[in-house]
Amino acid sequence: MTGWVHLVGAGPGDPELLTLKAARLLAATDVVVHDRLVHPRLLSLARRGAKLVFAGKEGGRRHVAQDEIHRILIAEARAGRDVVRLKGGDPFVFGRGGEEALALREAGIPFDVVPGVTSGIAAPACAGIPVTHRGVASSVTFATARLGAGETDWKRLAAAETLVLFMCGQKLARSAAALVEAGLKAGTPCAVVEAGSWERQRIVTGTLGTIAARAARTGSPALLVVGEVVSLRESLGGWIGWPETPRRKAG
Ligand code: SAH
Repeated sequence: MTGWVHLVGAGPGDPELLTLKAARLLAATDVVVHDRLVHPRLLSLARRGAKLVFAGKEGGRRHVAQDEIHRILIAEARAGRDVVRLKGGDPFVFGRGGEEALALREAGIPFDVVPGVTSGIAAPACAGIPVTHRGVASSVTFATARLGAGETDWKRLAAAETLVLFMCGQKLARSAAALVEAGLKAGTPCAVVEAGSWERQRIVTGTLGTIAARAARTGSPALLVVGEVVSLRESLGGWIGWPETPRRKAG
């Protein structure tokens, strides 16, 4: 009998931000195909003896091509095994989960999607930044920075109330400059959240004019939050988030 593929969101990093459904499926399936952005502690939730397959990117280079991931998922399911395809954040937010779902559909493999906590909301939250806030921002735009000529409509992104820009690592300086060129004030508050909810979480705040210099040594994963909501961190940053909260409780 053909197995089942579950496209599962692993959340932003902190293993406690996994859904109960994801934890149940991890404990029950034969094969786990996972990303680089998945916290290693989550993999210990896999059933004993489950086959763990790494299918992520390292340093921006794709280790396993997308087609190859489709091939692995389809082959495991055809061999009768149930598979958890564990993806960082939510599978359908810049995670290529939609492509995997289409490939499975085409191959006639039964699958379902288990949404996850996206880093687009969770990483700002861990930094004390609500992505919407009454009277400050009533909408939020999620986008990726593509720096090729004409690849990103910066004017449209500059019109966002709150902008969350994914994959900003090495693209930070050029993205901030592009937003100013597209009409945002250089004084617009922004923050880089690196590894939101991970033990090594790091937050740098500034303005579009200063953020590139301030966050020059940002590693990955990281995202850029732009907009007035970032100023709320001054009041909320000490109270919301992780690892600050557990430390406070312990003290
Ligand atoms: N599906 C994922 C996003 C995958 S794209 C989600 O919903 O979160 C990978 C990008 O997500 C990274 O380059 C980075 O911009 C962002 N990202 C993922 N996890 C993050 C985290 N813990 N903190 C900050 N940014 C993160």
